[in-house]
Amino acid sequence: MTTLEQPAVCTLDCPDTCSLTVTVDRGRITKVRGSDALPLTSGVICNKVAHHSADFVHGPGRLTTPLRRVGPRGASRFKRISWGEAFDVIYARVSKVIDTYGPEAVMPLNYAGPHGMLAGDSMSLRFFHKLGASQLYRRSMCGAVRSEAWAGTYGLVPGIGPEAAENAKLTIVWGNNATVSNLHLVRKIRMSLRKGGRLVVIDTLRTKIAEQADLHIAPRPSTDVLLAFALAVELKRIGAHDRDFIDQHVLGYDAFMARADDWPLEKAATECGIKAEDIRTLARWMADADPLVIAPGNGLERGRNGGSGIRAAIALPALMGRLNATSGVVLGASNSFPKTMAKLQRPDLLPTRTRTLNIMDVGRHLVEEDIAPPLRAIVIYNHNPVVVHADQNRMVQGLMREDLFLVGIDIAMTESMALCDVVLPAATHFECDDIYPAYGHHWLQRGEAVIPPVGEALPNTEIFRRLASRFGFDEPCFNATDRELIDEAIDGSDPRMRGVRPSEISVKEALRMSAADGRPLALFDTVMPATPSGKVELVSDTLAERWGPEARLATYRPRTAKLPLSLISPASDKRISSTLLGFGGKPGEAPPLFINPVDAAARGLEHVKRVRVWNELGNVVLPLIISHAVPPGVVASEKGAWIATSETGQTISALVSADAQADLAKGACYNDTAVEVQAWPA
Ligand code: SF4
Repeated sequence: MTTLEQPAVCTLDCPDTCSLTVTVDRGRITKVRGSDALPLTSGVICNKVAHHSADFVHGPGRLTTPLRRVGPRGASRFKRISWGEAFDVIYARVSKVIDTYGPEAVMPLNYAGPHGMLAGDSMSLRFFHKLGASQLYRRSMCGAVRSEAWAGTYGLVPGIGPEAAENAKLTIVWGNNATVSNLHLVRKIRMSLRKGGRLVVIDTLRTKIAEQADLHIAPRPSTDVLLAFALAVELKRIGAHDRDFIDQHVLGYDAFMARADDWPLEKAATECGIKAEDIRTLARWMADADPLVIAPGNGLERGRNGGSGIRAAIALPALMGRLNATSGVVLGASNSFPKTMAKLQRPDLLPTRTRTLNIMDVGRHLVEEDIAPPLRAIVIYNHNPVVVHADQNRMVQGLMREDLFLVGIDIAMTESMALCDVVLPAATHFECDDIYPAYGHHWLQRGEAVIPPVGEALPNTEIFRRLASRFGFDEPCFNATDRELIDEAIDGSDPRMRGVRPSEISVKEALRMSAADGRPLALFDTVMPATPSGKVELVSDTLAERWGPEARLATYRPRTAKLPLSLISPASDKRISSTLLGFGGKPGEAPPLFINPVDAAARGLEHVKRVRVWNELGNVVLPLIISHAVPPGVVASEKGAWIATSETGQTISALVSADAQADLAKGACYNDTAVEVQAWPA
């Protein structure tokens, strides 16, 4: 028997990017556990990957051959075809679209399934650039708000690494369901608690980490900016602003504080639905805490005031001059790596003036045909739009068009793949070589395939390499090997690489991005702000230019929705968004809806088992849990469940508006959806 233990990296959409040890028995993965290659994750991984990876790779849901649709769209009737036939069909149908409408009628519809730089977008974008396809602005779905807020305030630099939490006297976990989606930050926080540190969690939902905190503050959705304003005012009142640091390093202090002064403590507390005393306590603890670490998560960005909330929160350590080797904000980790995206993705191949479409608008473009040329061929990869797109009903309606040619590339027959004309089987991250920066820490890793591709599956790079060949693209860049792509993804000459060629990073040892003297990257220690002024910008002309004059300064937009309840959609501990690792894809697996006892009583739901959650966009039936985990006025249900779980054929994505946008980066508002709830059946 040949059993091997191989190093690998977890590529799922998670900030931790754990290093793995994979047990392989005769070409099959039998066990996945954590490894010590990455010191931050040091042998520990989450249950979902430890328990369900083997089934993810070898289970019955795995796509193993190319398929062609033979029934009506959505009827899930496919026949097996060869790769050659698949490429011939794609070439013929896409060429016809281009002949009729032009290349902009073709579009990639991709998101962040795998986080390796090669599988994410490398050869794929080279292909679409050369084709002249419509470009997709996809970060608005998640991540753009906080990365724009960070870059506008501090520039394209990394914040402090999560390791800093280990020695913090106070860690503030803000809008971050860390136990579920930032596991190793939690481990560092636990170490700090053992040393006498404090933990404060700011989250509308009483998450597991909130239950473990010294103080949990639960502001109403999208009122975090007011809490941060009130903290700024209170910190000033108790003398915790550092005037020397502000004078030297902060731009826009007076304008920021003038806006904050509009929200004194009692007024802000009322609007946030929290106790004024808790704000006082937190301000006092912040003033006393050195080191102080703030760890914001994605929850903060997904509301109407998401950008302002993050900007005001990350301004607080600058007001206090608490930015150094040990204190700071755990954000901006993506900026710690010397990525060379233009070399990797070759935007120079793109014809000038090719349009860019916002991923949030794709459903509308398909249904309303409000753009010229219309979209007539779409390639879905690294993405499950049917489940995760806001305004799910409109998205599904758009993808159901019979005059749309749909190609899908995935590991499993997702509900999005089931709508496609041609489905191509992709290799998992265990079957590919790739390079892995992280968005939650400063360690760069490389991974090699630990098993050959299952069935006829191919890595994304090889699929697009062959597609490029079928389309007659003969530039040398389409022949680049995966090893060459790795070297084109990262600047090997950057000092942070310490002379190591990207394709030669040891698969057994992560490479820490650090300063020339070997110290960790930390603002005002080894890194300085990279804003136009070189200061921490609390007013930002850059953000105003990019997102409109209102974006110059953090601000508050009150709730105007008519329906009384706000729906938030936290991450599940059983899957990564809609990527199934054991749960969330079958009838009966619909996640529950949490409602506060006050709201349940007001609707006579005390003894009700199931409810209908609805608004003008959709209807979802969910099991009900009455709980103090959500404050009055708020309901919560996990994101990412498949439509198969639903008896209405809709999940909570159906209730989220694709047209409502955050105050920055056109971001999606998954945590700020107005709904009503009633017993089901009525
Ligand atoms: S999903 Fe996150 S915590 Fe789990 S193994 Fe992957 S990187 Fe680690």
